[in-house]
Amino acid sequence: MQPFPEWVIFHVPHDSKVIPAEVRHQFALDDVALMQEIIKMTDHHTLELFTRGVPEQQIIRSPVSRLVVDVERFVDDAMEPMATRGMGVVYKQTSSGKALRHPIEIKDRQTLINDWYHPHHNKLISLTQQMLDKYNQVLLIDAHSFPSVPLPYEPDQQLYRPQICIGTDNFHTPKGLERSFIRQFEAAGFSTTLNAPFAGSLVPMPFYQMDSRVSSVMIEVNRALYCDEKTGEVTANFDQVAIQIKKCLISGMIIL
Ligand SMILES: [Zn+2]
Repeated sequence: MQPFPEWVIFHVPHDSKVIPAEVRHQFALDDVALMQEIIKMTDHHTLELFTRGVPEQQIIRSPVSRLVVDVERFVDDAMEPMATRGMGVVYKQTSSGKALRHPIEIKDRQTLINDWYHPHHNKLISLTQQMLDKYNQVLLIDAHSFPSVPLPYEPDQQLYRPQICIGTDNFHTPKGLERSFIRQFEAAGFSTTLNAPFAGSLVPMPFYQMDSRVSSVMIEVNRALYCDEKTGEVTANFDQVAIQIKKCLISGMIIL
């Protein structure tokens, strides 16, 4: 299989299960309940699922769990729709609406953002800029997975869940690319939806709605395809699904 072009970035925001020891005390859950919440909310093994064989310099992955800081959210709660559900950049609530954290002081929230959010986005911004300087184009693949049954926090509670959900942005996802990805995933036998149950795709802020050389597409994979959702462990299908996804992405990009 041919490799991904050098102007592709893989963004892997939700793969880590790490809660650093120094922030453990912020959480209101005991160890068992916290592990259960991590199992529900982590996009298990998406690093391996999407980026096998991809050079490290093309990957930006959050090293901490989304329960510590969610790098996929807007840092400003006023811009972030999920903040109204207690799940802005620093979550207050669990996926079922219970208290996840003890009330957090503004300065502690800011420390989390300074330690984990800004370094992640600064890396993503500078990699994007380097690629624009070198190739005059960038395609960001925003790599996620989702549970086969909606969690209570999710805005879209429809029970129908596709195998692949493609998220797009009106400004940053060329229509040809959108159609091409849908065609490739459907041809590979995956049931595929556009912007449902999850919509949009991440674009680094300095380029957002500003620079159309930055393209972005979110790919969300149904976890039932490749892992045991009760434990997060991979199932026997994992390798095959990873290979199929890679093929679909590489052939889907050819129109660029
Ligand atoms: Zn995700």
